[in-house]
Amino acid sequence: MKSPIRPSIVFFDLDDTLLDHKSAETRALQFVHDAFSPISEVPLDQWIQSYKMINKGLWDLYGAGKITRKELHYRRFYEPMNALGVGEDLNKEQLKELAHIVGKDYMLNYRHHWEWIPGAKEAYDQIQEHFPTGILTNGFAETQRLKMDYFQLWDTAERVVISEEVGVMKPHPKIFKHAQGAYRPEDVLYVGDSLTSDVEGGTAAGWRTVWYAPNASNLEKLQAPAELVISDFQELKSWLL
Ligand SMILES: [Mg+2]
Repeated sequence: MKSPIRPSIVFFDLDDTLLDHKSAETRALQFVHDAFSPISEVPLDQWIQSYKMINKGLWDLYGAGKITRKELHYRRFYEPMNALGVGEDLNKEQLKELAHIVGKDYMLNYRHHWEWIPGAKEAYDQIQEHFPTGILTNGFAETQRLKMDYFQLWDTAERVVISEEVGVMKPHPKIFKHAQGAYRPEDVLYVGDSLTSDVEGGTAAGWRTVWYAPNASNLEKLQAPAELVISDFQELKSWLL
């Protein structure tokens, strides 16, 4: 099936849509687990699971403006370490200090593992030959800008919007309004992996959406308010080009 109407611009989400954030995150978590002896004493899977759960909660608080970026940076390591009893012989200040160092090393190592999602580069390259493209992403400005550099996206993306630079995160309507600029909302198509941030957020802003959901169940796919649900980027190309 082909898209019935041509969009005027196609926006892409970055993390876990075009770029494989989850694998890079897991590998960097493994790196700090192995590099810091107090952390390596807890099983790796517990460390990763605890971090991911706490990190998600902290991102929600950050998104709601309840904690600062600096707090998010160290608390996502301090809290899992504390919960797992890492460094029991350290006092609170020493554990905080360790969390800061782990956080820095994590970010440095995370940058070594960036890769495209399979098929995403080919799809992006071909789509940007036919449509103006944009990037709309949540995240830290410095990190997301480095990704844009690394994957050479500046040359092709007509509009680049990073939540930290706008002051609100997806799915806040303000960031979609800001991203669309002079385009009419119904002329914007957004491709993203998050049901809440991308598909529901985009739909609420009046945008058309494509949900990249390689692991969703059939029921989830049916219930999603997206115009199209894809499991791989070939499907997006067939629909759009
Ligand atoms: Mg994403």
